[in-house]
Amino acid sequence: GKKIIIVGGVAGGATTAAKLRRLDENAEIIMFERGEFISFANCGLPYYIGEVIKERSKLLVQTVEGMKQRYNMDIRNFTEVTSIDREQKIITARNVQTGQEYSETYDFLILSTGAKPIVPPIEGLQSSNVFTLRNIPDMDKIKGFVEEKSPQTAVVIGGGFIGLEMAENLKEAGLSVTIAEKSPQVMGPLDPEMAGIVQNHLVEKGINLVLNNGIEKVYQNGQLVVLESGEMLESDLIILAIGVAPENNLAKAAGLELGDRGGMKVNEYLQTSDPSIYALGDAIEVKDYVNGTPAMVPLAWPANRQAHIVAHSINGRDIKYPGTMGTSIVKIFDLTAALTGNNEKTLRRLSVPFEAVHIHPLSHAGYYPGASQIAIKLLFDKETGKIFGAQAVGEDGADKRIDVIATAIKGGLTVHDLQELELAYAPPFSSAKDPVNMAGYVASNIVDGMIETVQWDEIDDIKKKGGYLLDVRTVKEFENGHIEGAINIDLDQLRERLAEIPQDKTIHINCQVGLRGYLASRILQQNGFKVKNLTGGYKTYSILN
Ligand code: FAD
Repeated sequence: GKKIIIVGGVAGGATTAAKLRRLDENAEIIMFERGEFISFANCGLPYYIGEVIKERSKLLVQTVEGMKQRYNMDIRNFTEVTSIDREQKIITARNVQTGQEYSETYDFLILSTGAKPIVPPIEGLQSSNVFTLRNIPDMDKIKGFVEEKSPQTAVVIGGGFIGLEMAENLKEAGLSVTIAEKSPQVMGPLDPEMAGIVQNHLVEKGINLVLNNGIEKVYQNGQLVVLESGEMLESDLIILAIGVAPENNLAKAAGLELGDRGGMKVNEYLQTSDPSIYALGDAIEVKDYVNGTPAMVPLAWPANRQAHIVAHSINGRDIKYPGTMGTSIVKIFDLTAALTGNNEKTLRRLSVPFEAVHIHPLSHAGYYPGASQIAIKLLFDKETGKIFGAQAVGEDGADKRIDVIATAIKGGLTVHDLQELELAYAPPFSSAKDPVNMAGYVASNIVDGMIETVQWDEIDDIKKKGGYLLDVRTVKEFENGHIEGAINIDLDQLRERLAEIPQDKTIHINCQVGLRGYLASRILQQNGFKVKNLTGGYKTYSILN
């Protein structure tokens, strides 16, 4: 049979190994893993530190012995693959415990080496209270430190997924937590106004959130963090979570082609520039499914799907990997933030013309207890209705809406099709018009030319230029907070008060979430006014204002 060597024994590696065995009983499979553990649940690590997951053993999805037995394969943990001789098809391996080195031939080589936390060259990051989180030993170190040293203050550097999860778990463990983020927002894959909801929630939950402020250096054996602004933060514990970089040393030394950001380049069957060597997971460059440009997407779903494809390809069945959409989700205390496809920042960077709508529907029927608003942003092509991406933030139901839209994108559905999705409804779960349907209706109105919209971040400019802003909420709502300079006419009085509205200007309408603004727009349009409705209403506008 074939002799297959796998480098990396976690998400991508172990999944490929298992699939290879299911496809071929006769293959010789050797899986190398530098660390002690294989097939562990990286994604669960923060929750063990926060004691949401109580048993460490639950994170060890498969043990070396268990997997050897079940899949009849050779698993060599504590063994690093140190070089590849592509001519001879030989790898060199080194047992990291004994130092013993040896070589092994292969017919096929699979690289699932993952990505490592980025550690910038900043003074003081070598202090003993600074941690990164990638694997079980990292997790044990952090948990041990929390238990032994009882730190009171923690600084989490970086407001991405792992940083947010760590901040929450440390807060729940009783520490006073600061998140220091260099960019103007947390969670880069969200657009700023959507991230704003997450930021407000972090603050409500008692996190000290510092944005637009990277770290300058770490002082006093790690006890003090100095930010770029000069601000100082006490730090009994520091978590460094500013992102990951592909582990590409082996590939680089072997002369495999790499992308601009260091990910291994692969074809649609996940072969590297050497057809006998496949690569997958966090270490490869993928194609962005929506826009086709190169991307790095370090997530577990792609690694699992790619494992399936690699195993099949080696066994003579070619399945194409069409790219990664980046569908992802994170819990932030009581909130869920989820997204799929391209965000506005990406579309702007690529100069793709797009429209965006914001809606704030309830997670389920308002008359059934426990409903809460979900902020949903949908990005699409105004001409064709093609869906580019979506983001959802809310306490309940954001996950399934994003999963439905992710499915729609995969299926090539348009915003018109979203109206037609027949989704499960009873009052505890949704409304007869599900939030996804609603997003479809609102977006379709734009594609169909029924309404023009204005975005939350265009309002200040409109104000400056003396534009006309009309708030159609009730007097009471208006008094509770409104866009400065807006004129208030309650929607229910609009028909009688048309004379108060100028005919020669564009009327920028807002209500609370966009719906009454749409109704007002239809009334005004049919009376000869030129109107634009603020998508997402005052609610979206006020997130960052
Ligand atoms: P990894 O799982 O990192 O495995 C690579 C392995 O290769 C490592 O164990 C490494 O030791 C080994 N290795 C590298 N080089 C060598 C070598 N030369 N020789 C031998 N072994 C080698 N994704 C989600 O989708 N959702 C989540 O909620 C989520 N949460 C996460 C939380 C944390 C804390 C972390 C760290 C990651 C999380 N991820 C999440 C990301 C997800 O875990 C990764 O995308 C996935 O594990 C990638 O799989 P991989 O096989 O490419 O790499």
